[in-house]
Amino acid sequence: MPAESASLASPAPAGMEDARELLHRVWGHPDFRGLQADVVAEALAGRDVLAVLPTGGGKSVCYQIPAILRPGLGLVVSPLIALMTDQVEALKQQGVAAARLDSGVSMDDRSAIWRAARAGELDLLYVSPEGLAQPHLIDRLHELPLSLIAIDEAHCVSQWGHDFRPDYRTLGKLAELFPGVPRIAVTATADARTREDIVRSLRLDAAEVFVDSFARPNLQLSAVRKENASRARTDAAVIDLVRQRRGKSGVVYCGSRDGCDRVAQALRDAGTNAIAYHAGMGTDDRDRRLARFLAEEGAVMVATIAFGMGVDKADVRFVIHADPPGSLEAYWQEIGRAGRDGEPAEGITLYGPSDIAWNLRRLDSRPMPEEVKAVQVGKARRLFAMLDGAICRPQAVRRYFGETDAGVCGFCDICSDPPAIYDATVQAQKALAAVQRLGGRFGRNRVIDHLLGKTKDVQPWESDLSTWGIGQDVSQNGWRDIVDHLLFEGLLLEDPNDGKPLVGLGDPEAVRAVYRGERAIEVRRVPAASLTGRSEPRRARNDRNAAVEALDADVRARFETLRAWRRDRAAEQHV
Ligand code: ADP
Ligand code: MG
Ligand code: ZN
Repeated sequence: MPAESASLASPAPAGMEDARELLHRVWGHPDFRGLQADVVAEALAGRDVLAVLPTGGGKSVCYQIPAILRPGLGLVVSPLIALMTDQVEALKQQGVAAARLDSGVSMDDRSAIWRAARAGELDLLYVSPEGLAQPHLIDRLHELPLSLIAIDEAHCVSQWGHDFRPDYRTLGKLAELFPGVPRIAVTATADARTREDIVRSLRLDAAEVFVDSFARPNLQLSAVRKENASRARTDAAVIDLVRQRRGKSGVVYCGSRDGCDRVAQALRDAGTNAIAYHAGMGTDDRDRRLARFLAEEGAVMVATIAFGMGVDKADVRFVIHADPPGSLEAYWQEIGRAGRDGEPAEGITLYGPSDIAWNLRRLDSRPMPEEVKAVQVGKARRLFAMLDGAICRPQAVRRYFGETDAGVCGFCDICSDPPAIYDATVQAQKALAAVQRLGGRFGRNRVIDHLLGKTKDVQPWESDLSTWGIGQDVSQNGWRDIVDHLLFEGLLLEDPNDGKPLVGLGDPEAVRAVYRGERAIEVRRVPAASLTGRSEPRRARNDRNAAVEALDADVRARFETLRAWRRDRAAEQHV
């Protein structure tokens, strides 16, 4: 018996050698990776754990292995039937005695499951949080020795997270219902606030907390701004991107069910094996679509966020956001569904000013306390600022997650082609002043006309304002960049409920900081200092296509660099 497993409390507890052997025999993995070994050791020893490991980091074995090795039945709470089914089927195929109790399980099967559990022949039982709300289920569990209780996707407990499930709120009572049974919560959501909420709500105050690095060195990330994007143009850009990756498996995230159906159809018309997936479909239908995505080579899932949690497909080569997600957490989790096999994969996000309004509308339509909403709005703003910023993508996200020492990735669109940065603090002050003077009466283009002093349609009172024509140092396209950037930073706001939105001032504190020169505004690209200022839709369109094309031309070369780097590393390790 290995030394570390010696303990006076339990007679012959399993140790890490047993855990490694199980991992090897049942899962075929040579060893634990990252923080898995630490998490498993803690759980094996019967202590509470919160493990924050990246998507694809292997959170499942962190609770499955201790549950199997410790005496008694391991109870796993999982938020989705599809997730449970996947895991239970996989475990059964590997020879582990696992079962699930959900609404789809027949009475006969239920009886068989409880019989097996009472006979001590069941290692793992998966249940939904709603299932656990049923008293008779708790009664039955009380008759059994439990090895541990695992709570998968634990961020669902928190309103601060991005997948809040009210049913998860009740899981805190497990602490009292099953005193002495160790509990392990796992999630890929890293921000401190959600983490604190998990600890508090699940009563994990005594838990050891493990937070792994969120680096995903095989992911090549990029963001493309939608220029004056109509829906048709955005769709066309997405279809281009997918066609250039023909034969590869990928996920395209859309913000709405309609968008999903539309893009999936357009992709099929373009000869891609695209499958739509959203919550408007029945469960069976969704399961079939998921099965196809997992089985068919080169399948592209076009989905809303209803798709993805826990989906374990190793060879997803790209994740494209046709519409950006709502936060950096959601972004990281969603792009993290690419490249789980460790091979190069891409995350490409399309974003535009109209997505901000869309996001605000979405938040407005949900019942949530104002305080929570304010936090969600702030989170979306951080994401948009990152997308429109000029900091290495993974570095920006990892720093936000608290990895203050995260370096640059050397590999994202920003690292491989550092954009020109233009100090637009003075211009930002002008734009903010103009919006303030105009009292929020104008939309974006009219604000720009005002700055340029364009005389068409000018109101008599308007040309009397001190801000009239103060922006002639920047071209019209330059102003578009600057004003859009101010929208992305939340310094300007558009009314989300208006088809032709008016522009107003954003967060007053932040606006004051810009006025005082305490906050510098940097924009990407150089706004040509020309006074022509003619509307140039064609150029704008070409810009977008050029951006998408440049992105693509670059990608292959960058993957070669990454492959070479990995080869060198592998060679070094062999010496
Ligand atoms: P998560 O829930 O953290 O997103 P999963 O538990 O679904 O991740 O695991 C993702 C993939 O990683 C699975 O295919 C799993 O078999 C694999 N995996 C887990 N642990 C290891 C390991 N130690 N070595 C290699 N592969 C692993
Ligand atoms: Mg998982
Ligand atoms: Zn980078």
